[in-house]
Amino acid sequence: MASTIGVLSLQGDVAEHCRSIEALGRRAIQIRYARQMDGVDGLIIPGGESTTIAKLTADNPDAIFDRIREFIDAGKPVYGTCMGSIFLAKEIEGSAQGRLAAMDIKVRRNAFGPQRFSFETTLQIPVLGEDPVNAIFIRGPVILSAGEGVEVMARVDANIGRLGKTAGSLPDEAALYDSYIVMARQNNLLVSSFHPELTDDYRVHDYFIRMVEGLELPKYFAQTAKLEQSKASSPVSNQMALASV
Ligand code: GLN
Repeated sequence: MASTIGVLSLQGDVAEHCRSIEALGRRAIQIRYARQMDGVDGLIIPGGESTTIAKLTADNPDAIFDRIREFIDAGKPVYGTCMGSIFLAKEIEGSAQGRLAAMDIKVRRNAFGPQRFSFETTLQIPVLGEDPVNAIFIRGPVILSAGEGVEVMARVDANIGRLGKTAGSLPDEAALYDSYIVMARQNNLLVSSFHPELTDDYRVHDYFIRMVEGLELPKYFAQTAKLEQSKASSPVSNQMALASV
């Protein structure tokens, strides 16, 4: 049966995620209250600002966030884009801000610098097929490290963006990282540092729906092959995109 996907609607680019879900013929519900979670099969946590959501967590300790934790513990699928990936992470570099701490990843916020250093590039994501994905990064995070149970789905060249090595670079970081993880999955949790909802390529949402509905996943093209990285980088052209997240 076609699933219903909730989109957490406390902030961020909610409408764009709903549009992508509906384009794939599924129902999208904007989630503001804990009780609405009963009616959904999967949840998307959109991009936005993680310090704001952290503050909301502190102000509403009992309601929606506990329900989301229960949802995750019950094995229900959750997809976090950008801020959503920060909120799902167990560890945030240099920060104790509130989070769900559900996924075994360590993230670096604002990894490519401030908003004006946002960019788009193409990524090879083998699980989604041979055609590269156009990935829009808006003050996005990167995943610095991931635990054993985490499947790395896409990486970006560490020298991408206007700052080259990412903003929080340690002096010896050049030796540590050639690339950063920007999409990953751990069981029922999926994260991406970029924003597929701002494009008309629905493959990432399709992948998530397949997780939710237990459908066969797209054929792996090169799971064992090294993930290629693109060096192309250009400023984000979509001003709407910048305004909405
Ligand atoms: N920079 C934001 C944060 O740290 C994330 C930006 C986004 O979600 N587009 O929370």
